[in-house]
Amino acid sequence: MAPKDNHYPTAELQALDAAHHIHPFSDSAAMRARGARVITQADGVWLTDSEGNRILDGMAGLWCVNIGYGREELAEAAARQMRQLPFYNTFFMTTHPPAVALSAKLAEIAPGDLNRVFYAGSGSEANDTNIRLVRHYWHAMGKPEKRTIIARKNAYHGSTMGGASLGGMGAMHAQGGLPIPDIVHIDQPHWWAEGDDLSPEEFGRARARQLEEMIDRLGEGTVAAFIAEPIQGAGGVIIPPESYWPEISRICREREILLIADEVICGFGRTGHWFGSQHFGIDPDIMTIAKGLSSGYQPIGGSIIRESVAEVIEASGEFFHGYTYSSHPVAAAVALENIRILGEEGIIDRVREDTAPYMAQKWATLAEHPMVGEARMVGLMGALELTPDKAARAAFANEGTVGLMTRERCFANGLVMRHVGDKMIISPPLVITHEEIDRLIELAWQSLDEGMAQAK
Ligand code: PLP
Repeated sequence: MAPKDNHYPTAELQALDAAHHIHPFSDSAAMRARGARVITQADGVWLTDSEGNRILDGMAGLWCVNIGYGREELAEAAARQMRQLPFYNTFFMTTHPPAVALSAKLAEIAPGDLNRVFYAGSGSEANDTNIRLVRHYWHAMGKPEKRTIIARKNAYHGSTMGGASLGGMGAMHAQGGLPIPDIVHIDQPHWWAEGDDLSPEEFGRARARQLEEMIDRLGEGTVAAFIAEPIQGAGGVIIPPESYWPEISRICREREILLIADEVICGFGRTGHWFGSQHFGIDPDIMTIAKGLSSGYQPIGGSIIRESVAEVIEASGEFFHGYTYSSHPVAAAVALENIRILGEEGIIDRVREDTAPYMAQKWATLAEHPMVGEARMVGLMGALELTPDKAARAAFANEGTVGLMTRERCFANGLVMRHVGDKMIISPPLVITHEEIDRLIELAWQSLDEGMAQAK
């Protein structure tokens, strides 16, 4: 619907939206009562809504607009590719230049010998691919009974049947009889909420050892893979204690199971490295990618696979798997241009050396707020634990209420910050400046004050 004199008919858009559009992860009744927010344009880290308000996007859309909004080069790359070859598939022994160039580039930036890419349209689809891929791999290795995938509670790996099953979100499993068979979950390494009297290091090791215990319980001969996000994003930016990943890595090395790092959020600069695995020294067999791969300008995801794993798949004949939009040429061209900008403009180096340390220092000041029990951050992703009692690391009685109120106050004040229960989470575009960080912190503090006042 076109604006008249730069003004959008907000109420009309909201009514039509309510009549015909089912939203992902939205409470329809609450949204109808208030009217959906209508975002009409964006630039840098700033959104504009249909009323002309400017809002600082502290979530980079859905953790994805890493290079910021409004980059003409990506629009140009899409337009160029659409004119030249808007679609062709890579099924049946065919390829095209954007798929070739993107695959070679991903092989170059991915750590170790991760050098083959299988494309999907999203992170969820890529994780569905991973389920099929690791089972097919073990089958080809002559061990078809190795089928079970171990994942973690409160993880998020997508919304397809496979992705939601790998995820450990109880509310999602309750809708539709998930998880699908042969997927099991161990506990998450969330020290603040679940660490009790253990030190973070003791707790990290204990939670990692649950993987070993689960492998023993199921029998090593039945386990195909372990999947985890380097830092759980949608679960509430759960940053594992330093002891966690080395112990997980040891277990995966010693036991015969594949390690899948879901880099959908952590990838493409979010932690100040190309991949979160590099931040933690993880050596995965497969990485799931999406979101920051194209900075959200085009829907694209994929799996980057270790050469030795890919060789087994390739040697076993045809892999009966693929999506119409696997390696879509326009999405691939846009992703390639996005990666060029991330690298050539030094955006990731700047996050690691400048923006993230600055942000971490400012973010830490929010821990002085009376309602904040912990302010944690790695790279440019962070969380605040809201609590009625800091010393006891206590939870609020009606979990999620104060978080929701605070999120609504943030939006009213011109800041997008998401809530997960009573955690406030942040993941701004990687191009955010010091001044914008200062503004973000001011708006967050003000919104915390207002959220706390409403909670009383
Ligand atoms: N994996 C992780 C870690 C995610 O955070 C997400 C989405 O938030 C997904 C997978 C699913 O990706 P998509 O929404 O592109 O299907």
